[in-house]
Amino acid sequence: MTARFARVAIPRPVDKTFHYRIPDQLVDRIAPGTVVLAPFGKKTMTCVVVELVDDSPVKTRSLLAMAGTPSLDPGLLELAQWTAGYYRSPLGLILRMLLPPLERRNRGAKFRLTPLGKKAHECHEKGPFGEIMDLLSRGPRTSTYLEGKTDTERLDDAVETGLIEIVLPSTTGPSGGAPASMRIRDEKKILKLTPHQSSALETIIESTDKAEFTVILLHGITGSGKTEVYLRAARRMLDSGKGVLLLVPEIALTPLLTSRLDTMAPGKVAVFHSGVPAGERRAAWEALALGRARLAVGVRSGVFAPVPDLGLIIVDEEHDSSYRQEEAPSYNARDVAVKRGQIENIPVVLGSATPSLESYRNAETGRYRLAILPERATPSQYPGIEVVDMADPKVDRSVHPFLSAKLLSNLQDTVERGEQSIIFLNRRGFAPFLLCPECNYTLACPNCSVTLTYHLSRGMLCHYCGHVQPPPSICPSCGGSRIAPVGTGTQRIEEVLQAVLPGAVVERLDRDIMEKRGALENVFRRMDRGEIQVLVGTQILAKGHDFPGITLVGILNAEQALDFPDFRAAERTFQLITQVSGRSGRGSTRGRVIVQSYFPEHYAVVAALSQDYGVFYKTETAIRKEFGYPPFKRLGRVIADGISEKRVMAAIRELVGRIPRSAGIRILGPSPAPLPKIRNRHRWHFLLLADSHRDLSAALENTGAFHLPGIRVHVRVDPYNMM
Ligand code: ADP
Ligand code: ZN
Repeated sequence: MTARFARVAIPRPVDKTFHYRIPDQLVDRIAPGTVVLAPFGKKTMTCVVVELVDDSPVKTRSLLAMAGTPSLDPGLLELAQWTAGYYRSPLGLILRMLLPPLERRNRGAKFRLTPLGKKAHECHEKGPFGEIMDLLSRGPRTSTYLEGKTDTERLDDAVETGLIEIVLPSTTGPSGGAPASMRIRDEKKILKLTPHQSSALETIIESTDKAEFTVILLHGITGSGKTEVYLRAARRMLDSGKGVLLLVPEIALTPLLTSRLDTMAPGKVAVFHSGVPAGERRAAWEALALGRARLAVGVRSGVFAPVPDLGLIIVDEEHDSSYRQEEAPSYNARDVAVKRGQIENIPVVLGSATPSLESYRNAETGRYRLAILPERATPSQYPGIEVVDMADPKVDRSVHPFLSAKLLSNLQDTVERGEQSIIFLNRRGFAPFLLCPECNYTLACPNCSVTLTYHLSRGMLCHYCGHVQPPPSICPSCGGSRIAPVGTGTQRIEEVLQAVLPGAVVERLDRDIMEKRGALENVFRRMDRGEIQVLVGTQILAKGHDFPGITLVGILNAEQALDFPDFRAAERTFQLITQVSGRSGRGSTRGRVIVQSYFPEHYAVVAALSQDYGVFYKTETAIRKEFGYPPFKRLGRVIADGISEKRVMAAIRELVGRIPRSAGIRILGPSPAPLPKIRNRHRWHFLLLADSHRDLSAALENTGAFHLPGIRVHVRVDPYNMM
């Protein structure tokens, strides 16, 4: 019996799938994983067949056609289903990430048939887009041309099918490799692995040779040469014909890596990240799916990249919170990567100088294998770290209240020696708020429960909803004229340093700078060429880049993360200080790190100063164990938000009531969320702590199908964001 119906996941935030009739001409061509076009309301959607069934419980519409996209292989379909189930994320939205990215339409862009579209047109398999395809069969056309001749609303749908594509003026055709702008340095010399690197590589090779699921935690201090180990392992896999998937927190930060991969496997590297135009990403996706490219390099969503006959997955900086997507569809790419390794039965390497407590605990209990790189790979010594206690009133800060004389004089010396410095401060903007010293008024966002950040060019800006207004010159509350910025952000430090280091080029790198396309690459290129002497920036500076010219790292407000009501606050603090410090002294000169802290006796700061992961891990795990937090328990978070706080409170109580009271579950709350209002929506939440994922999942079972008009419910499994 051939199945007559298909269960299909629609890319919409709904937690169910839909049945469609399979039209006669498609009956033998559709299987789970097939990408099809289905009518949904008035739209045509590209979606994935999840299952074939003999019957439909409801009256159904028919599928329209096959989409011009290769089918998902069963492993990826299984991975998507697992991810949707584990994180309670809509399957259709997860599957959307497995399909090639859409090209966005822009004005003046031309449309043309893809090779697949041409073939379909020749075979008269035009499906619902016959008219558009006929119009394009004689060559590319602009949307202006197509307007009036056909329903241009359908153009986007047609692009989504893969039958037609957008010709972007800048696209030079499908290429997988690193964009030229990223190739900054070419290192051709072959390195001799250190003994530690060799034995780490050996551990990985043992597992790849056995071709079985193993997770290897590569714990290597900053500058220990983890990249080299990844490259060798990847190389071996490629040589044996297997595919490799490499995830990094931010591709633009690893230009050297990308160019070295390209040198290692010319034409075989496919890069995925949001900075690459959709057209190129689509080309990269196809190159992988069709087996032309064999090494996928991507950020978060790259974990779903199609790599046939995958042999190895590597997750660099596995502790990095950018792997966690909090908003729907929520998932953690590091953990999805481990699951993918299990499904495909292949090894997974998780690398970090500061492993997450979850991963290190898994290594400790023997679930993961541990490989260690305890020393720097180059002759460079680990930098000397000093702390300045900013809470001590005797500390000299005569030049500027935020800069100790010690950090300043070190900066001046470094500039004089022609070396480079980075100054880390995890706060963008000029100042976190404006304060009236007469009445203590602070300017808050009208939509959110936060103060407005003072930005030099943009004015008062809300970092949560984007609200902007000009800075007031007199206090809106008491009319006083002394209202002024309080505290400091990266813009202010940049300004101060420009003033006190007149001979130096001081630049800034934070999210405001990175909004401009190519700005990040530009700063990195200029750092690499030594054109910048001092770089001020936010946590982007903590992510594994390698600049041999940096000999001084200054960390301001090291313990800032500790202000957040989050059980990972100490872990984040330790990771940030360790990672930022690790940028210093990677070349031949020994580096220095100066940590300014108002709380230098905090164990996270102390452990980071002494570069002792072991001590931090021991202290922190004892605390987590005592309070019953991950990695000893599984955490869930349920948030309800809405305009009416009364209704939000009613909703959250109703949701708490739906949690079955069982032994393995502890509920914290409900209470207003630490950020009680965002975009005029009041927010309440509660946390769930469970003995196992299974318990947690069972407890959350009844929270999904909650509907109350005007109320949005967000269910988060293993959340990272506690705000
Ligand atoms: P990590 O990612 O562990 O922080 P990197 O991979 O960035 O460290 O390596 C740090 C530096 O050490 C790089 O400049 C790299 O070229 C160099 N390096 C790595 N392995 C070796 C080696 N075996 N011999 C000499 N230099 C090495
Ligand atoms: Zn706001």
